[in-house]
Order: sequence, then structure tokens, then C-alpha cells
Amino acid sequence: MKTLSTLTFANSYCDLPDTLGTRITPQPLDNPFLVHFNPLVAEKIELTSITALDPSFVDVFSGNATLVGLSPLAMKYCGHQFGQYNPDLGDGRGLLLGEVITSNSIKWDLHLKGSGKTPYSRTGDGRAVLRSSIREYLASVAMEGLGIATTHALAIIGSETPVAREKIETAATLIRVTESHLRFGHFEYLFYSGQHAELQQLADYVIEHHFAELATTDSPYAEMFKQICHRTAIMIAAWQAVGFAHGVMNTDNMSILGLTFDYGPFGFLDDYDPHYICNHSDYSGRYAFDQQPSIALWNLSALGYALTPLLDKTEIDHGLEHYQHQLQQQYSHNMRQKLGLTLTNDVDSVLFSDLFQLLQQHHVDYSLFFRTLSYITMTDLPHSCSLFSELFPCTSDLKKWLDRYQQRLLLEPNDNQRLAVMQQHNPKYILRNYLAQQAIEKAQQGDYKLIDQLMTVLARPFDEHKHAEVFAQLPPHWGKHLEISCSS
Ligand code: AMP
Ligand code: MG
Repeated sequence: MKTLSTLTFANSYCDLPDTLGTRITPQPLDNPFLVHFNPLVAEKIELTSITALDPSFVDVFSGNATLVGLSPLAMKYCGHQFGQYNPDLGDGRGLLLGEVITSNSIKWDLHLKGSGKTPYSRTGDGRAVLRSSIREYLASVAMEGLGIATTHALAIIGSETPVAREKIETAATLIRVTESHLRFGHFEYLFYSGQHAELQQLADYVIEHHFAELATTDSPYAEMFKQICHRTAIMIAAWQAVGFAHGVMNTDNMSILGLTFDYGPFGFLDDYDPHYICNHSDYSGRYAFDQQPSIALWNLSALGYALTPLLDKTEIDHGLEHYQHQLQQQYSHNMRQKLGLTLTNDVDSVLFSDLFQLLQQHHVDYSLFFRTLSYITMTDLPHSCSLFSELFPCTSDLKKWLDRYQQRLLLEPNDNQRLAVMQQHNPKYILRNYLAQQAIEKAQQGDYKLIDQLMTVLARPFDEHKHAEVFAQLPPHWGKHLEISCSS
């Protein structure tokens, strides 16, 4: 394990054409202090946790000091925001500080979010507030705990620098750690600005660093696109199965590695509502929960179009078809695990659609329903209606569905194993908006205990945590209706 000064850094992104970014140093914060540190993320980059106690950690990651080996740079990219192309984007409040190379040669980007103005800040102040930094920090832990590909967050640094949002808040930084910060929008930028030689260089870079096994195939660019489609499908299938809504699926927030990226007004479903809109500023519901699979396809089409200097139409279509096929397969796989079905049967699709209809009709808590179901043995199912009393009125519809589910389970080989599988695929703990909100309010008063406690359960959301039952309960009424805007 290493300290900050003994980490090995690289800056491979800086070797790409200059048009892809601007070197710039972070702007310092007033009286920075450590809010929270994630030792599991530190472990990924082989950084010892003791480093968090070192004052230089806070200085470097608040932008108040530099570190030999880092070469901070604001990335240039563009993208489609709510369907409209915006040529004017880029890292407006974050910097790629550098890349850590681990002993087994894995490259991890270190990105400082909230580091001050850059040439791409437009009218923004270049800052991130403590509130949104905590949301991203906890979401990164929660998604990883759920087994969903995501960026990670090493730490949050707080400060006394005032920042104007709906009201005055304080600025913070978040140290994001991930394999790559490349977005669909990087390719869109080079395509729409006519920089097609640079576009090819970027594609070569992506293949070299992230899809090396494709370099020797007959058509590496087509294979790269197919891989991006594949990973996006796996990610979206996981979001839909777990009930995660991203909220701002603009192409500049889509990772070329299929990572859940750029957490803003995201939300996990409380009551099952396929039309759930987590982003209060999304007036048309473009990014509603049930739109995510088709929006990802739209975004992949935009990426495919941006890659036309390297791909022909058949190759693009092939990638997009792969996405649709893979999404279907993976989603069905994930949902079957949620119901503990290992065999396929003709009745399954109706069993699922009737269940979704019931959940929607009765406003049933999505995660708690599946978790409750994960404890009920096959023999107990027909008289288990009362176990759902907190979630469901005990209607004849529910009873009928439980009977049909029992009949279906008779075909399955092993009921104990089914229960174990279901408990491993139906989380007991999810990052409900109100939990994040409570952690934020405590942290704004300087109390970070709730962040600690939430991190512990969210990192292992399928386990029982004896002293944390309170986090596994139904949300309070006020907690279901929090309005989360894009402001961050
Ligand atoms: P986001 O909605 O966070 O994905 O950001 C969209 C674009 O706006 C990106 O180019 C961001 O860097 C930029 N941006 C967001 N907030 C700020 C801010 N406070 N200051 C400067 N740029 C920002
Ligand atoms: Mg963004």
C-alpha cells in the first residue's frame, strides 16, 4: 500500500490531441476539511487509508496544493442534452487530475469534481455543493454493492467557501475514481467539429486502454462499438431490475465503459411506478424510469452516428441490434433471479406482467415487496398474504398471484436454494432519497455518522445488518415526495 507521494501516476489522456482538453490548475477552497473517506476505494488504487489523516490529502484534493506527477486537465466533450446537441460542454467544474497505475498495471482516473472554473464552465461557478457530493458518494457505494457497474468516490472534502444555489450552501469536492471518464460526448465533439483524424486517435486510445483484446480483430472499431452497446445493455438491465432511475441520461453522462456515471437527481423507486421521474426539472418525462432502455438506445444511435467516419451503417445497426438483444436477455435473467426462477416456462411472462400490474395498481414498495417474497417458503406462500400487510392490501388479486407463483415454483428443483438466490438478488437496503437527505442534513451540521452507517449497509445490501433495520423500512410519506432538481 502506498501514500499519496509514492503512488505511480500517468497522464495518458494528456498525450491525446490538445483539442481534447485544457490544462488548468484547481482553484483552492476556504478552510477545507475531510468529510468522508472510503477505504475500499483507496484499496482499489493501492492507497493506504492512513493517508486520509495526512493534511496533504485534504490540501491536494481541495485544490489547495499540487502533487508531483499529476497533470490536471479539463476534458473537452459535447453531447445531446434532452435530445438537443450542445457543442459547448466539457468539464465545467471538474478536472482529471491524473491516472494512478496500480502494481498490476490497472489505470484509474483521479477526477476532482468541484475544482473551480474551467474554459468549459459557461455561466457556472465551477463548484459542487456538499449536498450533491454526498449523493454521488453514497450512490457510488450503493451501486457497487448492488453489483452494478459504476464510477467510485474516494473521498469528500468540505469547505467554508459559499456557493449560491437555491440558497447559499458550501462548496465541496468529490474525488472520483474510475477506469475512464470518456463519454459518448467525447466522440460527438470530434465528429461534429469535423476533427475526424482525432476521432480515430481517440478510438485507438479507447481500444488500447480498455478493449485491448479487440485490437487484433478484423474490425476493431465495429467491435469497440459493439462492446459499448453490450456494456450499456448490461447496465440498463441492472438499473431496470433494481429500480434505479438516473435522471439525466444525456449523452455527455454516458460512459463508454457502461458505468453508471455522473450522479445527479437520481432516485431508486419507492412505490412501483414505471413512469417515475426522479429529476424535478425533467418536465416532459424524457428520462422517466421506463424510458431508460429506449433512451440508452437513442444515445447509442447518437454515438454510432458520431462514429460514422470509422463505421459503416451495417456495423452500427449490428451494434444497436446487439444492445436490444442483450438488454432483453439480461433483464429477463435479472428478473428471473428476483423471483428465483431457474427454469423457463410459458406461464412466466404473464406471471411477471400480472405482478407488475399489481405492484403499480396498489402503489407497492418495489424493493420491499421482492425482499419480503424472498423469505417465504413455497409451502407458506398461499397463506402469506398477511406478511405483506405493510405493503399491500390483502386483496384476492394478491392471493391469486401468490397461488400462481406457488404453482410455478412446483416446477423448480430446490426451494431452499431459491430463497437463498432471491435474498442475494433482492436488496434489503437501497439508497432511498430520504436516507440520502437525512445524511446530508446531518453532514451540513458537521455530523457524518449517518454517512458511515449508510455506507456500511449499502456496501452489502443483500446481507442482514442487525442494528440497521431502520434503514430497511418503508420510507416516510414526506420521503417519497422529495423534489430533486438538477441543482448541484
Ligand atoms: P451535469 O448536468 O452535471 O452533467 O453537467 C452538464 C454540464 O454543465 C457539464 O459540462 C458540467 O461540467 C457543467 N456544469 C454543471 N454544473 C456546473 C457548475 N456549477 N459550474 C460550471 N459548470 C457546470
Ligand atoms: Mg455531466
